[in-house]
Amino acid sequence: MKAGNGCKWGMIFGAILMLASALCQAASPKHILMDIESKGFRHEVLPLAAQIVKQLGQESGKFNVTVTEDSAGSITAANLKHYDAVLFFTTGDLPIADRAGFLNWINKGHGFIGVHSATDTYHGYTPYTTMIGAEFMTHGPQVKVNVHVDDPHFPGVQKLAPSFTIFDEIYQFKNFDLSHRVHVILSLDKNPQTGAPGFYPIAWCQQYGKGRVFYDALGHRDDVWTSKIYQEQLLGGILWALKLEKGSAKPNIPQFSPMKTN
Ligand SMILES: [Zn+2]
Repeated sequence: MKAGNGCKWGMIFGAILMLASALCQAASPKHILMDIESKGFRHEVLPLAAQIVKQLGQESGKFNVTVTEDSAGSITAANLKHYDAVLFFTTGDLPIADRAGFLNWINKGHGFIGVHSATDTYHGYTPYTTMIGAEFMTHGPQVKVNVHVDDPHFPGVQKLAPSFTIFDEIYQFKNFDLSHRVHVILSLDKNPQTGAPGFYPIAWCQQYGKGRVFYDALGHRDDVWTSKIYQEQLLGGILWALKLEKGSAKPNIPQFSPMKTN
C-alpha cells in the first residue's frame, strides 16, 4: 500500500512538474532585435516606431525588443544567438559583415519582420530581395487608400476584413516576389496615385527555408504607428514570424500581376 501511494504521489508530482515546465515555456518571452539604422533616407517616425514595437511586446507579454542602429556590431553570428527574430525598419546598404550568413540564419528557422523601408534596403542584392519579397521602386504623395484583406484568417487582420482605409505613404515595388512564393495578406486593387486598376501588394509573408518572413509596407506616418489598425496587423505579423501564431504562407499571387512587368 505504501509503495503504491508513493508511486501515485510520484506521478502527481511529476505531472505538476511537467505542467509547470510547460507553463514556464509558454510564458517565456521571445527576443527580437530591431534595427532602425538608416544608410539612406531617415524616417522621423523611427523613435516612435521603436517605442511602439517595445510596447507591443510588453503588452502581449510575448517578446522583448532590443533596438540597435549598429548592424555591423549586432548582426553577427555570435550576437544573433540571443535572438529569435530580427525586425528591420532600415534604409540603404547596411554594413553587416556577413549578410549571406544573416540570410542563412533566417533560413535555418528564425524570423524576419520588415517594416516600410525595409524594402528600401540592400538595393541590387538579389538574395535579400528574394528573402523580403520585393524591392522598393517609388512612392507618390501621401494618400488615402482602401486596403483589401487578401487573407482574413491571417493573425492581426481578421478584424480588418474585408477592407479598411488608411492615409499613408504608399510604396510601389519592383522585383516583387522573384520566384512567386509569397502569400499576400494586404493589397490594393488600384494604383494608389492614378486609380488605374491593378494589383499593388501592401503586406505579405513567406516561408523562407525553415524561417518565417513577414513584411508590411505601411508605417511612414506617426498616426499610422499609433493607430490600432496598424498595431494589430504588425503584432499579428510579428507573432506569426516568431511561430507563436498560425497563418498560411501558401503562395497566392494573382496570375496576371502588373508588378511582373517591372
Ligand atoms: Zn516613408
